Amino acid sequence: MSITKRWLRGGLLLTVMAVAAVEIFFLYSTRVSMYNGVRQSIRGRFSTINAQLEITISATDGATVNARSLALRRMVEQFDAKEAYEFMLLDSQGRIISSSSGQIETDLFSNEDFALALESVDGTGESIYRTARGERVLSVTMLVPYPVGEIAAMRMVTSLTLVDQAIDQYAMTSLLVASVVVGASLLSGLYFIRSIVQPLARVEATATQIARGDLEVRLPPGPYEDEVGRLCRTINQMAEDLGKTERMKNDFISSVSHELRTPLTSIKGWIETISAIRDPEDENYRKGIAIIGQEADRLYNMVEELLNFSRLQNGVQLACESLDLVAEVTDVALFVQPRMNQEGINLDYQEPELMVPVWADPNRLRQVLVNVLDNAIKYSKPGSTIHLELLSEVDNVYICIRDEGRGIAPDDLENVKLKFFKGKNAERGSGIGLAVVEEIVTAMNGEVEITSQLGEGTTVTIRLPHYSQPQEAPEE
Ligand code: ADP
Repeated sequence: MSITKRWLRGGLLLTVMAVAAVEIFFLYSTRVSMYNGVRQSIRGRFSTINAQLEITISATDGATVNARSLALRRMVEQFDAKEAYEFMLLDSQGRIISSSSGQIETDLFSNEDFALALESVDGTGESIYRTARGERVLSVTMLVPYPVGEIAAMRMVTSLTLVDQAIDQYAMTSLLVASVVVGASLLSGLYFIRSIVQPLARVEATATQIARGDLEVRLPPGPYEDEVGRLCRTINQMAEDLGKTERMKNDFISSVSHELRTPLTSIKGWIETISAIRDPEDENYRKGIAIIGQEADRLYNMVEELLNFSRLQNGVQLACESLDLVAEVTDVALFVQPRMNQEGINLDYQEPELMVPVWADPNRLRQVLVNVLDNAIKYSKPGSTIHLELLSEVDNVYICIRDEGRGIAPDDLENVKLKFFKGKNAERGSGIGLAVVEEIVTAMNGEVEITSQLGEGTTVTIRLPHYSQPQEAPEE
C-alpha cells in the first residue's frame, strides 16, 4: 500500500473521528445547557408566582381556598410574559381551567408533564412534545402545594422554536469549522506526504538505475536538509564509491595482467634462446635457466598473494596463539635482510631485550610485516635506511617501520589502504598489499596508521594489544 493511502487510512481517519467526537460533544452539551436555561427560567417564574401568591393572600388576610383560587386566576389573567409563555391552571384531572392566552388551546394539551408531576417527589413534571401545529414546546407542570379548590396544578408552556434555531445555527457554524479543520489537515498532510513521496520515487528510480550498473547517475540535491536530503546524499556517495571501486577493479585486472605478462614474456624469450643453444655448459644457457627460475618464483609469489587475498575476502581465518612479538619481528628482519643487502638498503633494527607477548596468528603476522617491509624496500633508494622499531606501552605494542623513500602524495595517503589502490608513485604491484595488512591487523584487534611526507619517507605503525591473560581465540 502506498504511503499516501496508509496516511489517509491512519492519520486522516483519526483526525476525522476526533473532530466528529468533539463536534458531537459540543452540540450535545450546547443543547443540554440551552434547554436547561429554558427549564430554569420556567421554574424561576413558578417561584415568583408562588411568592406573589403568598403576598396577595396575606394582604387580603383571608387564607381561604377561595381567596387563593381567585388570586391565582387573577395572576393568569394578568400574566405579563404572555408572548413567551403560556401560563395555565389545571384541575385534578389535568384539564385546563384557565390560560393566559385567554383561550383554551387544546393543541397545547399534553398530560405527560401533569402525570409526571403527580408521581414526582417535588411535585413538578416536564415534557417536550410537538403541538398540533408542528411547534416543539417545553411544558412544565407544578402541583399547587396547598388546596386551591378545583385548581390542582399550574403549567407553563414555552416554544422551543427559537432555541432550536439557535442550536441549528451553532451546528452549522461548528460543522463549518470542523470541515475547515479536516480540509486543512488533509491539504497539509497531502503537501507533506508529496514532499516525501516524490523525492522517494526519484530515489527509487535512481537506485534501480545504479543497481542495473549505471554508476554515473546522480540525484539532484534536494531542497531540504532532512532525512530525504541525507538519503539522496548517501545514495550519491554510494554510486560514487561503487564507481571508484569499479574503476580500481578494472585497473587491478589490467595491472595484474601486466604483472603476469612481464615474467611470462621473459620466460618465453629465454626458452627460445636456450632451445637454440645445445650446450648446457654455455653461459647464456645457465643464465637463461636461472632467470626462468627467478621469474617462475615471481609468478608463484604473485599468484600466492592473489589467492591469499581472495581467501581473505571470505573472512579472515586466524589461528591465534600467544607468541613473543620480538622473536617474530626478528625472524622477519632476518628474512628480508638478504633482499635489502641486494638492493643496497640498510636495516636499522635493535632487538629489544624483553619479550613482548601478543595474541596473534604467526603466519598472518609474518605476512603483514613482510608486506609492509616489501613496500618500504620497493620505494626506498639504494643507500637509504629502513628503521624497524618495537615500542611497548602499558596496553599496546607498536611496530614502526619507517623508510626514507619517495613517500606518498597527501591525496593518495587516505586511499592507500583501499583494495586495488595504487598510488601515483606506484611501482609494480596489485594494490592489495596494505588492504590485506589492514584486514589482518584489524582482525587481531589492532590498528594500522600510515604517515608520509612526499620525498622524505613513509612510516607505517602497527598497533597490537598486549597479551596479558589467557583468552579464548576469537571466533572464526
Ligand atoms: P601493492 O601491493 O601494489 O604494493 P599496497 O596496497 O601495498 O599495494 O600499496 C598501495 C600504494 O601505496 C602503492 O601503490 C604505493 O603508491 C603506496 N605505498 C605503499 N607503501 C609505500 C611506501 N613505503 N612508500 C611510498 N609509497 C607507498
